Amino acid sequence: MEVELKEMLDEIQSLKQSFPDSSNPSIEKLHFHVKRLADLAKSAPVWRSKVKDMSAEVVDSNPYSRLMALQRMGIVENYKRIREFSVAIVRVGGIGSVAAEMLTRCGIGRLLLYDYDKVELANMNRLCFHPEQAGMTKTDAAVQTLQDINPDVVLESYTLNITTVQGFETFMSSLENKTFRPEKEGSGVDLVLSCVDNYEARMVVNQACNELNQTWMESGVSEDAVSGHIQLLIPGETACFACAPPSVVASGVDERTLKREGVCAASFPTTMGVVAGLLVQNTLKYLLKFGHVSPFQGYNSLKDYFPTMEMRPNPQCSNAACLERQKEYLLAKPARDAAKAKMEAEVLLVAEGPLHADNEWNISVVNDREIDAKDTASLDTLPEGLTRELPSADEFLELPASGPAEMCVDDLEELKKQLEALNAD
Ligand SMILES: [Zn+2]
Repeated sequence: MEVELKEMLDEIQSLKQSFPDSSNPSIEKLHFHVKRLADLAKSAPVWRSKVKDMSAEVVDSNPYSRLMALQRMGIVENYKRIREFSVAIVRVGGIGSVAAEMLTRCGIGRLLLYDYDKVELANMNRLCFHPEQAGMTKTDAAVQTLQDINPDVVLESYTLNITTVQGFETFMSSLENKTFRPEKEGSGVDLVLSCVDNYEARMVVNQACNELNQTWMESGVSEDAVSGHIQLLIPGETACFACAPPSVVASGVDERTLKREGVCAASFPTTMGVVAGLLVQNTLKYLLKFGHVSPFQGYNSLKDYFPTMEMRPNPQCSNAACLERQKEYLLAKPARDAAKAKMEAEVLLVAEGPLHADNEWNISVVNDREIDAKDTASLDTLPEGLTRELPSADEFLELPASGPAEMCVDDLEELKKQLEALNAD
């Protein structure tokens, strides 16, 4: 834009010179307006351009240098792989919008966003959305914000309700679409993040993921906004949402009764931010294969309590697709055990060799107890010619038990005499 306006100014300048009388009022007016636009364009914010290759180069202009440092520090083996992954986020509300922004800033390959709601001013207690976006669909508003933050991310916006027949069909076909990475096994996405706020929608995500054998993560915040949870669901391997819904497990309450009609649920950007942070942290650990992915992570903000637990699938689950996946998981057990044994044998083989072939600094490992014994001995025997200024603590204990008491009585007698002498004056 700035370049085009400069060209236009040059053209007006040559036009002005082509007239015998160079002070033509119409041309002067045009020159004034274009110059003003050029000045405005100069002060406009600079938009980030796309980055073709993720680099670890430490320069101020590299948006990935701090993320690539995770690789340099040995936390993540290959951070660049993040660009291969597709993550679907169902509902772009308090948790979903924050999770989408975090993944965008981390440079995820592709994000699929699903929501049917519009941005309202009542949403401004949450993160991500801006007041000027009120009235826009949440998916379009999120895409608008996210593409400015990181234009490298492929963003897909689905304004639909997955609990309707039509919405569910589109949801399923979008998850199956493999255009982004045709060679990928299974569905077209690597992980589905459920950020919905009701039982019915969770059951729909559960149904889709069980049918597609799709790993997903569940998240939620309580109605009073002070606690939340995330849960990893691998069809056949862990409990599905129909096997054991978390709140039913925790309190024995039917979750369908939790979201009450006409009750305005509280929402804290802090609790939402913590739960979204836990969700995306575990998403990154799952995708980039580092650390431990929590099977279930609870969060009680009033007590700062983070309970974790594992949930096995229920062989009596009411979901037919879940039972199907459980059967497949059991059938694949011998192959899984063989692969695990092979991997353990390889690890053992590596462990038997020297930890570091070269020992440039001649570092040797010694027994802790030997050091302790040596230190104690050196405390007792000082080098020749040195004496302690203060007695050691042990020497105080050796004083006769009656000593301090007698001294105390003597001191009191002395104090009494001094007081009497003062009174006498
Ligand atoms: Zn199940």
